[in-house]
Amino acid sequence: MPVDSEVTIVTVYPDLLGTYGDGGNGSVLRGRLVARGMRASLLEIRSSTPVPETADIYLLGGGEDAPQIEAARRLRASGALSKAVANGGVVFAVCAGLQIIGESFVDGDDKPIDGLGLLDLRTTKMGGPRAVGEILLESSLPGYSGRISGYENHSGGTQLGTGVKAMGRVLVGTGNDRHSRCDGAFSGKVVATYLHGPVLARNPKLADYLLKLIVGEMPAIQDRTLVQLGKQLHGDRVAAAYRSESKRGVLSAWRSLRG
Ligand code: GLN
Repeated sequence: MPVDSEVTIVTVYPDLLGTYGDGGNGSVLRGRLVARGMRASLLEIRSSTPVPETADIYLLGGGEDAPQIEAARRLRASGALSKAVANGGVVFAVCAGLQIIGESFVDGDDKPIDGLGLLDLRTTKMGGPRAVGEILLESSLPGYSGRISGYENHSGGTQLGTGVKAMGRVLVGTGNDRHSRCDGAFSGKVVATYLHGPVLARNPKLADYLLKLIVGEMPAIQDRTLVQLGKQLHGDRVAAAYRSESKRGVLSAWRSLRG
């Protein structure tokens, strides 16, 4: 894409899929383009409005069970995201968004609901308590090394098929399920994760990874305050994840001592 053309970012259904500040992902992407002197527009497409098919980046956030089912129904009926991917668009989906763009997930009665089939993954109930708390990954994305921090809150557990790879290895927290120690998935320009945060604010490098899929190599951001704040937030949240892990360890040792 020519450097001077405008990058269009779409936040999909913020009225249904917007828990834990995931709507902030769009602002981060736009802000990092503008800070480089590039042009960007951010469209918030509510569920009553048709989703455009030729935007550059599509963002889906987390959601409660009922809005999630409604979002999946509307997106399946429109077919817009499949066409957007065929047009070369990037999709970045968080939690409920991850479950929706997979092959299937389940409702509260364990009845399977069709997803959009953009990623080869399936979600069922994990069983046991919800996975809630700080989560930390080691990235498995191509050309991206380093840690990715976030916050998770989900009851679904996701199994990956052979058509995708995990986005990261879990260092702290749960991720896709209780066994695989991996989180999220990617295939081509479709990337999904359980990490809220907003995850792109906590991990500016992940924001730039997604932008590069569309615009290629980008100039460095000159605004030192912005760069510094991003680094500081990333470092603080990585440290918070390790602290929460040691707190969980102390708690479970205390519980086992009490018998
Ligand atoms: N409703 C889904 C679950 O609990 C997704 C939750 C979320 O997006 N935070 O698994």
